Amino acid sequence: MRRRKRVAILGSTGSIGTQALDVIARNPERFEVVGLAGGRNAALLREQAARFGPRIATLAETDGAAGLLRVAVESAPDIVLAATDGAVAFDAVFAAVDSGIDIAIANKELVVAAGELLFAHAAASGAKLLPVDSEHSAIFQCLVGEPRDGIASIVLTASGGPFWNATAEEIRNATVADALRHPTWQMGTKNTIDSASLMNKGLEVIEASRFFDLPGERIHVLVHRTSVAHGLAIFTDGNVKAQLAAPDMRLPIGYALAYPDRLPAPAPDDALVAVGGERGAEVTTLRFERPDLERFPCLGLAYAALARGGTAPAALSAANEIAVAAFVNGEIAFGAIPECIAAATAAVPQYELSLDAVHEADRSARAAARGAVAERRVKIRGI
Ligand code: MG
Repeated sequence: MRRRKRVAILGSTGSIGTQALDVIARNPERFEVVGLAGGRNAALLREQAARFGPRIATLAETDGAAGLLRVAVESAPDIVLAATDGAVAFDAVFAAVDSGIDIAIANKELVVAAGELLFAHAAASGAKLLPVDSEHSAIFQCLVGEPRDGIASIVLTASGGPFWNATAEEIRNATVADALRHPTWQMGTKNTIDSASLMNKGLEVIEASRFFDLPGERIHVLVHRTSVAHGLAIFTDGNVKAQLAAPDMRLPIGYALAYPDRLPAPAPDDALVAVGGERGAEVTTLRFERPDLERFPCLGLAYAALARGGTAPAALSAANEIAVAAFVNGEIAFGAIPECIAAATAAVPQYELSLDAVHEADRSARAAARGAVAERRVKIRGI
């Protein structure tokens, strides 16, 4: 009998972490949980630890970066699911990669900020890096078995978020509740706000550039409102492959954890339903639209950071985190998010790429973004 794959999860109490544990619970003969690192929810972490019996369980809030490192390396996993938001787990993931441990990457800031370094470290240690983001999982699946020189370009699809049909003015003054109303995906707060601004897609363009080693000019974005087609690969002979699936994060999570195997899942019993149709329907359509960079400037900011290279993507991602947090706290308008990012990234110098430089760019972008937020803080009546 085959040994079960040992899994450690960084961010086990978050949206991706809990969905990954659901996938693992459905496939107990394939996976064994050896490490869990939760965020702030101590009660949920205790519950998860009692159910899955990991060797090591830590809470980021109390155990900090050292706790993440213990889970990523000392729990001796075959694969680490990196599913924390932001920069908190960078060092833990690098340590795991350097130990030759495979990483299923859901932490998109990690690939955006430090992707070039991470892939170089993985090449040196032999660790495999597998995408969990649905679009990248889709493209990865389209490219399995394809020679590199046959790839012309790739396409990431975007749901367009809740403001796709809104005017520039409506977008500028959107509330937090408006921005959290995502049409198709269930995700954490940061991801959902990023989807509303299309920064999520911008970060994914940079992520795709690292995963598939392609420049920005060969990475396209098409808005596809129903999130059934997740990614496409266009080949040099004009043939195009697309990956389609229900918008359910457990599918790309399961693909990354089980790779190269495929997990048993309840297969759709109806071909039309499998391609996004309503049960009982006779017709479904796949519709694609070009993105609008005027109403959604964050996407353009991300392409610019990718073209600039070096630590520019790290600065972009850090400034975005600060701007999104300020919006969620009611400090700035939704429309001020791209303004703060543009101001902050312009103020951060370009450093020569190293992990220290990534941390330095991250710190200075956060400071610059806080300054930009302070200048745009909305006036609260009566104060
Ligand atoms: Mg995605």
